Amino acid sequence: MSILNVNILPCLSDNYSYIIHDKSFNKVIAIDPPVVKPITNFLKKFNLKLDFILCTHHHADHVDGNLELKKIFDCKVIGFEQDSSRIPGIDIKLKNHEIWKFGDETVKIEHAPGHTNGHVFYHFQKNKLAFVGDIVFPMGCGRIFEGSTKEMYESVVKIKNLSNDTTIYSGHEYTISNSKFFLKFDKNNIKLFERSKKILSLRKDNKPTIPTTVQLEKDTNIFFRCEEQDIKNSINMKNASSEEVFAKLRELKDNF
Ligand code: ZN
Ligand code: FE
Repeated sequence: MSILNVNILPCLSDNYSYIIHDKSFNKVIAIDPPVVKPITNFLKKFNLKLDFILCTHHHADHVDGNLELKKIFDCKVIGFEQDSSRIPGIDIKLKNHEIWKFGDETVKIEHAPGHTNGHVFYHFQKNKLAFVGDIVFPMGCGRIFEGSTKEMYESVVKIKNLSNDTTIYSGHEYTISNSKFFLKFDKNNIKLFERSKKILSLRKDNKPTIPTTVQLEKDTNIFFRCEEQDIKNSINMKNASSEEVFAKLRELKDNF
């Protein structure tokens, strides 16, 4: 199996695009490019060409680089079939659960609505990587724009159900504001305090707090911890279901 090289490219004010390079297969993927310059600068520096663009969802801050990059590199744009009318330049339309081969890696596309109706994430099964766009962030989850709270909850659970050692790459740097919010409601969580300290020092040096892992989110992301009695008590929802707790937390975070 070839080990994939993942490079984090900060774009716009707080977006992340990613360049994935398979050295033995010599092919390159960009994930969610909102702009062109950071991508072309990086590729030029390492003398690479772009072969594929993978899109998690249709928002401008994830797809606005597609058409120009296609013009430059003649690369193929890949996205969810069900949302293909909203993905600029789409060439390869994948169905839910379909597997797309990248060298010897198998990339599974998973529908995970809530932030948008057509949101997907890409699971690189052998390398154990998940590119999740705006579904899950370190210590947070995406806002619900098009879907229902139930859909968003189920989408977060899909990511939570990946193996604990899966590495998660999200679409934005929102970690500091997330940690401030959750420290209010998850006061007894020592791991959360420790992580918050680490995050502040990373951000002070302008370093990304991405990637994270499923295990780390299980330990410190309140949206992964809705079934815990401690959390339920802290929002006075002692007997509520995990999904109800999730809905309440999302609402509190929206108004934070
Ligand atoms: Zn978005
Ligand atoms: Fe976004």
